[in-house]
Amino acid sequence: MGSGKVTSSEPLHWQGKHVTVAGLGVSGIPAAKVLHARGAIVTVVNDGDDARARAQAAELEALGITVRLGDGATLPEGTELVVTAPGWKPDKPLFEAARAAGLEIWGDVELAWRLRGPDAAPWLAVTGTNGKTTTVQMLASILKAAGLRTAAVGNIGVSLLDAVLGDEEYDVLAVELSSYQLHWAPSLRAHSAAVLNLALDHLDWHGSMEAYAADKGRIYEGNRVACVYNAADKATEDLVREADVEEGCRAIGFTLGTPGPSQLGVVEGILVDRAFVENRQKNAQELAEVSDVNPPAPHNIANALAAAALARAFGVPARAVRDGLRDFTPDAHRIAHVADVDGVAYIDDSKATNTHAAEASLAAYESIVWIAGGLAKGATFDELVTKSAARLRGVVLIGADRALIREALARHAPEVPVVDLDRTDTGAMLAAVQEAQRLAGAGDTVLLAPACASMDMFANYNKRGDAFAEAVRELGTDA
Ligand code: ADP
Repeated sequence: MGSGKVTSSEPLHWQGKHVTVAGLGVSGIPAAKVLHARGAIVTVVNDGDDARARAQAAELEALGITVRLGDGATLPEGTELVVTAPGWKPDKPLFEAARAAGLEIWGDVELAWRLRGPDAAPWLAVTGTNGKTTTVQMLASILKAAGLRTAAVGNIGVSLLDAVLGDEEYDVLAVELSSYQLHWAPSLRAHSAAVLNLALDHLDWHGSMEAYAADKGRIYEGNRVACVYNAADKATEDLVREADVEEGCRAIGFTLGTPGPSQLGVVEGILVDRAFVENRQKNAQELAEVSDVNPPAPHNIANALAAAALARAFGVPARAVRDGLRDFTPDAHRIAHVADVDGVAYIDDSKATNTHAAEASLAAYESIVWIAGGLAKGATFDELVTKSAARLRGVVLIGADRALIREALARHAPEVPVVDLDRTDTGAMLAAVQEAQRLAGAGDTVLLAPACASMDMFANYNKRGDAFAEAVRELGTDA
């Protein structure tokens, strides 16, 4: 880790400044309103021109904001700053024009960071391919248990702009950041930050694994107290090494094994801290029991350790880590136990929309009938199948790209029975669950961990998980 200068929030003079906001929607509309209220001359540009966009445009225009629908490519004349929705791809012509004109481009996170007041609460930030939401919520729960005023913000819950500009006062914020948001947040400087893991995802957006990793790594830039990395994922440690941080900022690892000095880890079912203790060569502080983590699946214990590391970096006592973890319940569709039917546990991990997440949930059970498939988003399944083969009792495949998984199974686990469901109608999930029931024996787990996005068959992963739970309930009444 090098040592670098920290950029503080800069007071900007918005009066009369020409700002182009790229994208109507969850971040664009509040950004446009906030900047307009500060006296900026705001133009919103948006690719779409449908009924919803028109209604949103009408609302903004009534305030005096210009909205240009159906053309998100051309940079409006006179633009001095671009504020973009985080999902917009960096290679868009609008951004090329902005860069050619030497303009700054900020995302929603950068905007919130710059607009926060001089005494604003510090940020404890979390990114990673998987586990962000869970970890940030665990962190907020721990901080609350320590009596701190906090909220889980970012991609979830309270929006960052609201948290930064609203009336509610905070001591510290637990902030979830996506790789897109980090890409567009050049001056963000967190108190401490964690990268949970790094797996191939969103390559279509970032262009390469290197670019994806570099965007995730921005979260460590300028950290003051701790850069938290995953000792089992060398790529996260490499990012810490490359980061330019404040003098004295420490690299803190988390591991599911016995922790070394400056690490948090697990010893005989206890989460222990060998980082934020006196004399860490010799001492360790017990934080909580593995059974305090809900659910106590390996990847979720890793999330708990990362959350604990950030909380401890902020000075939170061990007792609050334990109480905060005990108070925490995960959001729906994340390894949710739906029911036991005839001695078989049915688990909904519909949120496992990529192979890395599915691998983590498959690692949490011994004997599994796996329901998988959907939209693969360019992923390959060989590694996932190879690593999980020994645990698979059977597989039921659904969705558009199921052939990719079927082929990987044929290559690496030919002995595992596979049911290939060639249907996408609303009853398909019930059929999948019935097939899974047929393959499962007492003591097995039927696990919906699709490793794919849901949009080929469902509106989103919530609906997919709901359909699974509904189907399991139908089994229950039949049984
Ligand atoms: P994110 O906000 O990064 O999408 P979530 O906490 O919502 O993360 O979890 C998303 C999915 O990733 C879930 O299916 C969950 O089982 C899986 N998951 C959670 N934590 C991890 C982890 N540390 N490593 C791998 N997969 C994980």
